[in-house]
Amino acid sequence: MSKSAFQELLANTRRLTVLTGAGVSAESGIPTFRGAGGLWRTYQATELSSPQTWNRDPGLLWEFYNYWRGSMRDKKPNPAHYALAEIEKRFRKDNRLFHLITQNIDDLHLEAGSQSVTRMHGSLWLLRCCQCSLVTKNQDIPITPAFEGSGSPDPKAKQSKFSKEDLPKCYCGGILRPHVVWFGESLALEDMEKSHEASRECDLFLVVGTSALVYPAAGLSTIAKRSGAKVVVVNLEPTATDEVSDFNFPGKAGEILPDLLMVN
Ligand SMILES: [Zn+2]
Repeated sequence: MSKSAFQELLANTRRLTVLTGAGVSAESGIPTFRGAGGLWRTYQATELSSPQTWNRDPGLLWEFYNYWRGSMRDKKPNPAHYALAEIEKRFRKDNRLFHLITQNIDDLHLEAGSQSVTRMHGSLWLLRCCQCSLVTKNQDIPITPAFEGSGSPDPKAKQSKFSKEDLPKCYCGGILRPHVVWFGESLALEDMEKSHEASRECDLFLVVGTSALVYPAAGLSTIAKRSGAKVVVVNLEPTATDEVSDFNFPGKAGEILPDLLMVN
C-alpha cells in the first residue's frame, strides 16, 4: 500500500480505531521499563509492577512509581500524539467515528487533546483505593512528603524503608495504589469491552508504536481484521504483513503520522 492508497482509504473510512503502544511514549522520552534493559535498580519492571511486590512491600512499589511519575514532569506530547488528536477532531467534524485505545499510562494523548480514549493499562496519574476501590486523579510529586527525593534508579541507591503511615491514603483511610494494570492482573472489564467493540466495528484499524504481533495488540488486530477492517501498522520495527496486518509503514510515528494522516 502506498501513502496515497492509505490516504484514499482514510478518506473513505467511516470508523477509525487507533491502537498505540510504548513506541509513541518512547518518542517523548518516557521510560517504559519494558523489554530488555527495563531495569529499576536491580529489579525487572515486570517483577516490580506486580501484586506480589505490592503485597510484600508497598513502600518499594511506591518508591518506583514515585520515580516514574517524577521522570514524567518535563515530558511533552510529540507530533504523533498531536496528529492523532487532530485526526479525531476532523473525524468528529465529519460525523465519522473515532476511538483511540492506548497501552500507555502517561496520559500524553489526553494532554495532546484526544477525547475518545480507552486507557487499557490505566494511568500513572490515577490512584485506586485498596479498600473502597474509589479512583481519584492525583499528580502529587512526591506522592507523599515521605517520598521526597527517593526513588533513584541507581542500582547502588540505598533502599528506603517506608511504613504504612508514609503511603498515600484515601478519604476512607484505605491505602491508595497506582490505578495501573500490573503484570498478572486482568484488564478492567469495561475497558476490554470498549476495546473489543472499537476493534470489531471499525473499517480501518491503525496500530502505532507497537508490533501488531504482540498481545494485546495482536488480539485486537485480529478482531479488526476478521471483522473486515484493514489493519495498518506504523512502528519502528517493520511487522510482517500476514493474517494480522495488511500493511506497515516502518519508522518513527512522530515523523510518519502527521504526513500520513495529512494533518501537518
Ligand atoms: Zn477508600
